[in-house]
Formats: sequence, structure tokens, C-alpha cells
Amino acid sequence: MGNVFFLSFLWLDCRLNLDTSHFFFDLFLLPPSSVVVSNGKIARVHPLSPAAASTNLAGAAALATGRKRSAILVFEKGGEGGSRSIIVGPGAVDAHVHANEPGREKWEGLASASAAAAAGGITTIVDMPLNSAPAATSAELLRAKAEAVEKVRRRGEEVNKEDEGGKEKKEKGVGGLSCDVGLWGGLVPSNAHNPQELARMFAARGVLGFKAFLSPSGIGDFERTSVAEAEAAMAVFQELGAPLLLHAELLPEHRENNRDIKEEGKEALEITDLQSWAASRPEEMEVAAVEEVVAALARVVSAAAEKEKKNTSSSSSFRVHIAHVAAPAVLPLIAEAKAKGLPLSAETCPHYLGLLDPSSPPRRDEDDDESSEKEDKKPKTILPPSLLKCAPPLRADVSAVASKKLWEALEEGVLDLVASDHSPTTPEMKRHGREKKKEDDDEDGSESDKNQNQNQTSFAKAWGGISGLQFLHPLTWSSSRTTPDTIEEENALAIKLHRWLSSAPAALAGLSKRKGAISEGFDADFVVWRPRELADVSVAGCRLRHCENSPFVGTGGDLELRGRVVATFLRGQLVFSSEEEEGEEKKKLGGARLSGCGGRLLERDA
Ligand SMILES: [Zn+2]
Repeated sequence: MGNVFFLSFLWLDCRLNLDTSHFFFDLFLLPPSSVVVSNGKIARVHPLSPAAASTNLAGAAALATGRKRSAILVFEKGGEGGSRSIIVGPGAVDAHVHANEPGREKWEGLASASAAAAAGGITTIVDMPLNSAPAATSAELLRAKAEAVEKVRRRGEEVNKEDEGGKEKKEKGVGGLSCDVGLWGGLVPSNAHNPQELARMFAARGVLGFKAFLSPSGIGDFERTSVAEAEAAMAVFQELGAPLLLHAELLPEHRENNRDIKEEGKEALEITDLQSWAASRPEEMEVAAVEEVVAALARVVSAAAEKEKKNTSSSSSFRVHIAHVAAPAVLPLIAEAKAKGLPLSAETCPHYLGLLDPSSPPRRDEDDDESSEKEDKKPKTILPPSLLKCAPPLRADVSAVASKKLWEALEEGVLDLVASDHSPTTPEMKRHGREKKKEDDDEDGSESDKNQNQNQTSFAKAWGGISGLQFLHPLTWSSSRTTPDTIEEENALAIKLHRWLSSAPAALAGLSKRKGAISEGFDADFVVWRPRELADVSVAGCRLRHCENSPFVGTGGDLELRGRVVATFLRGQLVFSSEEEEGEEKKKLGGARLSGCGGRLLERDA
């Protein structure tokens, strides 16, 4: 009862100003442990009293890590089939997103990316410097990108003003920002040896750190950086206090010293399917990259120490961060480097955690009508394999073992966080590696599946990247190696989840004084979710621009993702609430499917 009331009472479109305090947890969910929100900030978090357990309204528990409360957990008592839990946690921070704006809005754009994020309980995304066009590789280009983000924000506010009555349904791609946005600047060969330019880039609005590729990025104006170039820049970033994120795969020909390595990847493999794609990018590519990066980082840190510079590793935000770890073989290297005290962190992505098996891709329900009674008789189609193409690749032969090891590494803190690496494109690029031609419109797509040969060439050219932003939260939750039986187990796992999805990525992005925890003075960003309920992966519930590109949309029958996000709050404002919770009230108001406002361009902590 409490939850329905809570959500319907709080149903506020972001066009309304919340300038008064809202004691919502206090009143409806957590009588003894309450969160007071004022002006978009968490004003107070009252400590838990033992009376919580005895209240008739709901059982409540709050778990604290240090002084910061990393999550507040609420469970309702009773009900048939045992207790049905609902969790209020800090909004997620996705540190690895390619939103493609400006310049490639047809691939995604900030409006749909931020709406999908909000629907997935994510209140902050940090956008990669490439795939927007031009790539953000100079201070000037970063300023232009920040301006593009601002433009989307303003557009959202204007659309919401015009739409005051809430009658018009906003179209995808025309809304504003439904979550906060930060930017990674691009480290490329042309700026790697230019400390002044790197400092100017880091000073640009919205910039939280840098990203470089050690292998070709697939984007023409974002050149790969050598390890030597990255090392030169690391010394600068250490002084600036800027994190450096690396796509850590190294082709044999790009290795520093030509030691004997397995040359599987060197053969001119004909890439026709997921298996040959994986064989063309063997695990050794990741191992080689991490080995060389760790060695470079060690040299940079010891050189700074020799110069008797102050030790920046403990207080500064400088670190090297390995993006999307997929190969378990790199885990011992990361663990060893961390044990030595090197400022190194690492992430993995939900698609490496075992739910996507490239040898048997999930099937998509053709009929998305959820009211269909014959669940098992719904026609299903196997997803095009190119939807699972990404780099590093998914590996069928080792996926079960590898994903288990990656999960253990998360539990042990060898891996710090989970990010979506949301890398969208158009349906034509994802399937065939080309942009849609005009003739395709006339022929209504019939040309697209001409014959098997063409499909195989298409696979080689198809864009590599997984579209999963909206499902980061339920995917990670559902990848757990254990199913929590008791509320206590569930709570313990939820606390870890919020660390991987909220506090750890906030720290990476230099936002840990404001984001990633339910703590006084922090932004009032919350995700309200039900751990035991199926996540909404329906086409109707998808906010991405190209839902058909996501290997998760419509595949609920096969994947059964748990952890349903029911509401998301950004600075105290509701930016998403699920259909069922809103019910009729939402339909009356309309226009809420893409709230499209409230988000801002972020500045890092002072
Ligand atoms: Zn990426």
C-alpha cells in the first residue's frame, strides 16, 4: 500500500519546480530512517532506529558503509508468496556511454540516451569523446560539444514549457536531458605530447577526464594512441589530477617488444560470424595491453616520486582505468598492480557477465503483446548475430568460466565497477555496416536479406558495439552467481550492486562529493527498484532510439532479467516511473514517457 501511495503522490513532472522540502521517505517508506530532500539535495539522512523493524507499515533497514549510506533498503511485510522487496538506492552513474551527439544523432543522440538512462535507474552518464562528430579531441572541440549538450538541455526545457498541458507526446530525439551528463576528452596522438592543450581540455566545461584507444577505434577522426604516447600523457594527467580511461587491446604489430605471442589474431581471418570475430581478437590482445599499461604507469608514478613531487595517488583523481575488461587473464595483472599501490582501476560490462551466450543468442518475441496468454507459443526470432558483435568480443568457448571469474573479481574488488559501454548505431550499420541508402526505402528492406553471402560480408562490416544502456542495472543484478534466498542476502548483494553502479563510477569521474551515495549534501538522485520482479525489456518500454539494435529488447522470454526499475529521481525530481506504478494518472498527464528535462552538464568536484 505504501508504495503505490508514495509513487502516485510523488508523481511530478519535471516541469514543476520543487523548491520545498519533501519528506517522502519519512512519510511513506521509511518511518524511522528518513531522507529529507531540499532544493534537489539530500538535506538530512536520519539514522535508523530499532523501531523500524516493528513498524506495521513496512520493515525497513538501512545499511551504511562508513558515514555514507550507500543504499536504503525497504521491504514490505507479508503478501502472498513471502515478502516483496523494494529498494531505494543512489541513482546509477554510467561512466561509459557513447551518445553520439553532436554529429551522429541518427545513431542515438542525448535525448533518447538520457531517457533510456533514466528508465534504467541511471541519473548520470559520462559520454565518450568518439562517435560524436567531430570527435572531442581538443579544447575547442570539447567546448563545442559542451555547447551541444547545453542546446539539448535548453531544448528540453522549451519543449516542456510549450507542452505545459502535457497533451503532446514527445518524439524520440526531440526531447532534452533526462539525466546529468559529463564528458570524457579524447587523448589522441595529436595532443598526447602537448601538456598545455591537455590542461586546456581538462579545464573545459563538463570534462571529467580522458579516454584513449590502444587499438584502432573504428572512427576515422579518433586515432589510436601508442602506449608510449599514453605514458607521456599520464605524467601530465598525474599533475592535473585527471583520470585516463583506456580501451586496452593491443594488436601484435603494435606491441612494444615483439615477444613470441600466439598469432591467432594475426592471420587474415575471414570474419563471417561471432566465432571468427572472437578469434580475430584473442584474449592476448587484452593481456598485452594491460601488461604494457601497468609497466608504463609504474614508470610514471616512480618518476614523479623521484622528482619528490607530492604523492598524488591518494588524494588526486588521477588514475588509469581499464575499460571493459573481458578476458579473465588480465585480472591477476590488475590485482598485482593494485597491490603495489598503483593508481589503477578497471571495469567490466554486463554483456561479459554471462547472460549473452554468443553460441546461442537470445530469441526475440515477435509479438510484443504482453497480454498474450500462450507465453510459450509466441513466435520467436533469433537475433541477428551482429547485435552481439563488440570489442573485446564475447567468447562462446569460455563464456561461462570467464564470466564467473569476472564476477568474482567484482566481488573481490579487483574490478571496481560495471559500465554499459553503450555503443549504438543505426539498424543498417549494425546489421550491414553501411548507412541506409535511398533505394532501401523504396524496396522496403527486401534487399537487406538477399542471400547468405551478403549477410556474411555484412557481418564483417557491421558496427561493433552493444546497445544496453537502459538495462545496465537489471543485467548486472541478474548476472549474480548466487540467487539471494533471504532478505539479508538480497540486501548484501544490493549494497555491492550500488557500489559497482553508483559510488565507484562516481569516484572515477571525480563526482564522489555529489553523486553515487545517499548522503547529506549529495544530489537527491535515487533509483527505486524491485529486485525480484522481471525488468521491462518490452519494445514499448524501450527508450533507446533504435530498440531493434539492442540484444535485450524483446528477449524477455529468454533472458528473464530481474530487477525492475520502478522510478528514478534526479535531484529530487521524478524523471522516470514505470507504467504500472503510474497507472491512469500518467495517462491523463501524458508526455511523461520521455520526461526530457532536469538533466545538466556536470562539473567535477572542486
Ligand atoms: Zn566504448
